[in-house]
Amino acid sequence: MALIVQKYGGTSVGSIERIEHVADKVAATRRQGHQVVVVVSAMSGETDRLLGLARAITERPDPRELDVLLATGEQVTIALLAIALAKRGCPARSYTGAQVHILTDSAHNKARIRDIDAARVRRDLAEGRVVVVAGFQGVDEHGNITTLGRGGSDTTAVALAAALGADECQIFTDVDGVYTTDPRVAPEARRLDRITFEEMLEMASLGSKVLQIRAVEFAGKYNVPLRVLSTFEEGPGTLITYEEPEMEQPLISGVAFNRDEAKLTVVGVPDQPGVAWRILGPIAEANIEVDMIVQNVGEDGTTDFTFTVHRNDYPKALEILKATAAELGAREVTGDDRIVKISLVGVGMRSHAGIASRMFEALAKEGINIRMISTSEIKISVVVDEKYLELGVRALHEAFELDRGPVPAAEGAAPAAGEAPSGS
Ligand code: ASP
Ligand code: MG
Repeated sequence: MALIVQKYGGTSVGSIERIEHVADKVAATRRQGHQVVVVVSAMSGETDRLLGLARAITERPDPRELDVLLATGEQVTIALLAIALAKRGCPARSYTGAQVHILTDSAHNKARIRDIDAARVRRDLAEGRVVVVAGFQGVDEHGNITTLGRGGSDTTAVALAAALGADECQIFTDVDGVYTTDPRVAPEARRLDRITFEEMLEMASLGSKVLQIRAVEFAGKYNVPLRVLSTFEEGPGTLITYEEPEMEQPLISGVAFNRDEAKLTVVGVPDQPGVAWRILGPIAEANIEVDMIVQNVGEDGTTDFTFTVHRNDYPKALEILKATAAELGAREVTGDDRIVKISLVGVGMRSHAGIASRMFEALAKEGINIRMISTSEIKISVVVDEKYLELGVRALHEAFELDRGPVPAAEGAAPAAGEAPSGS
């Protein structure tokens, strides 16, 4: 007997038929002898509908009242699911976030979970009931209803799984797992059987939208095995877990990409201490997040400085940079908001040289010009022109044979003796 937390997203509970289908799946899991806690989202489109109602009154609804409103979406689905379970002879009880003491801070609309009192849930489980909990919501220390930010039900599920010491947290959604890349861009993309938390975090922050980033962070921190599966098709899904030292890691797990990039360059700024700070300081003050940064060294005592921002922030960043450039006596400011970022992700690259050159070769063969490069321990990102996105992703997917199943990090190239596997 295992304790399993299952989370069903908005599309999975998008209609009465679908809620009945979810009830069938939950009841079947319980019949297998498992204890089941279910976390559900609001029916698809419902959170947006509620937001629309508030915004019809004012563009800036009071955050506290907005949370009272938005939390109703999930309250509908927990009750309907519990009713559907009872109809199947499966004893169940539904609870709002406050009822199971999902204690959060008071940051309305983006609250963070501080603590969960799992006792009530445990009592129901011990008495043989399925426990259905509203995702996305909690309560602060003053008893105010809070919500966790869009997509927050994933985080509720993982936090509950951590608090209960669940054996697995299963995230049911409309895709059947995590893929090597977006199948809409590369049809030969393949479902991964497993991926590490670290890789999943990179994939999520690089644009893969399967899981909320915070939920992955949480799962990694508390070592909750996570599985992404389809509500609509049977299958093993993708297990997200710790890297097992004795297991051979695939060299590359996936190709992630991000379309919402823009880059800005100050040309010919004096190459002096403090220049980076003077350029990026005002950008940070405007709450604009900077991603990649590259500085060239010129020969005439000046330098070029390039960085990337989210495309939405581009006009604002350009305006700020022009003012800074004038102050610094820079030659010119240029920018481009038709660029994208493509990244290779894989823990296997930690112990392997030559990945970057293989990546650059694959792009060169397609005549794709690389505009910027950045690397981390388990990722290499390049910035290229927007028009090369599809071609670039497919070329890399092919060059690293991602369509063929896991390619173990090659024989004989194990980490040097005595090198401890990094636990970071
Ligand atoms: N219903 C919320 C949303 O649409 C939370 C969730 O679906 O996870 O963002
Ligand atoms: Mg959702």
